[in-house]
Amino acid sequence: MSEIKNANDLAKIQLEGLRWTVRHVYENSPFYKRQFDKAGIRPDHIRDLEDLSKLPFTEAHHLREDYPFPLLSVPEEKVVRIHSSSGTTGKRKILSYTKRDVEDWTNFFARAYKMAGIGPKDRVQIAVGYGLWTAGAGFQAGCEKVGAMAIPVGPGNLELQCQFLVDLKPTCICCTSSMALLLGEEIRRRGLRDRIAIKTVIQGSERCSESMRRAILDHLGAEHLYDITGLTELYGPGPGIDCHLHQGIHYWADYYILEILDPQTLEPVEDGQIGEMVVTTLRKEASPLVRYRTRDLTRKISGPCPCGSIFPRHDRILGRSDDMIIFRGVNIYPGQIDEILSDIEGISSEYNVILERRNAKDHMKIKVERDVTGDLSYDDEIQSAIQRQIKNQIMVSVDVHIVDYGALPRSERKSKRIFDNR
Ligand code: ZN
Repeated sequence: MSEIKNANDLAKIQLEGLRWTVRHVYENSPFYKRQFDKAGIRPDHIRDLEDLSKLPFTEAHHLREDYPFPLLSVPEEKVVRIHSSSGTTGKRKILSYTKRDVEDWTNFFARAYKMAGIGPKDRVQIAVGYGLWTAGAGFQAGCEKVGAMAIPVGPGNLELQCQFLVDLKPTCICCTSSMALLLGEEIRRRGLRDRIAIKTVIQGSERCSESMRRAILDHLGAEHLYDITGLTELYGPGPGIDCHLHQGIHYWADYYILEILDPQTLEPVEDGQIGEMVVTTLRKEASPLVRYRTRDLTRKISGPCPCGSIFPRHDRILGRSDDMIIFRGVNIYPGQIDEILSDIEGISSEYNVILERRNAKDHMKIKVERDVTGDLSYDDEIQSAIQRQIKNQIMVSVDVHIVDYGALPRSERKSKRIFDNR
């Protein structure tokens, strides 16, 4: 790909990629041909970027219905690999890759590592899942592409993680934020912080509050914590990452178009408002995405980043549209609770929200841990501060219970924090 110098170059690449994709899927994927015919759309109707809004949406259920090779838009002999998402219910989503898809993924993943300052002198402990998952394969390929030393430990196994952190002195660790916290707490407990060399944490795949970030950096003695985005359907991890200024996530707009839409109306939200990420790929051959509803919530950040990157930005992932809680008629995104709790002093990053129905009324209870050095005598004060902030910012009344540090469950993968028992 030629060098992208400005927004015009990017728009040109996007239009070419969009037109190529639309023609490619219409001619080669029976699924997309059906969808387009139903919507009365032909490839030559797409003349400029605004025409994107004419295209039909693609949703997760389409991928399951089209099992085992959904969206396949190339002859099978061009497919060199498949990956699959976890799929908690029913059939897994299986995504196919051509040789070029794998190369494209590797190239933009290398771009993500470079944005996080990782190069040939780094050693990268990769503590994410390998195998059918996209995570391990993506982190590994990108790491090798930038010339760093990959240490493919995989997830879990705290004993081995700690041993390698001390013995091999990796400068970067890649994992989920839950794993980073768990590992950080273990390093702290064992008093190993001065014997490890982690400078950079690259974390993906789940929401992480400001206070959890501070705890991870502090426990590991690291300088930077980067959020990398990822979605199996969109190659895997790597389609965006924040820069060293940490003012939003730069995304690779030369590989996909991002729309932020209201999850109910599917119309664009006002600039800067929270909405669902809807993506259209521009180069993907085997399983291209046309207006794919990711269910991830975020908002666009307008204006250029002071770092000088040409790539546009969106905010961190603020939750999933499926996780939106409707509580006494108010829409609440879990990310909003994260943000409020992160500004409260004296508590840890861990909390649970429990929703119950009593006497025909909804009740919300928040259990939150006292800080690691916490003092019990501040409990009442903290409790009312949380109640006040939640009332002010999301207009609901909650019961708050302060529990001991470490009392709430930790996870090596994604932490469950919302328990809806209604
Ligand atoms: Zn930047």
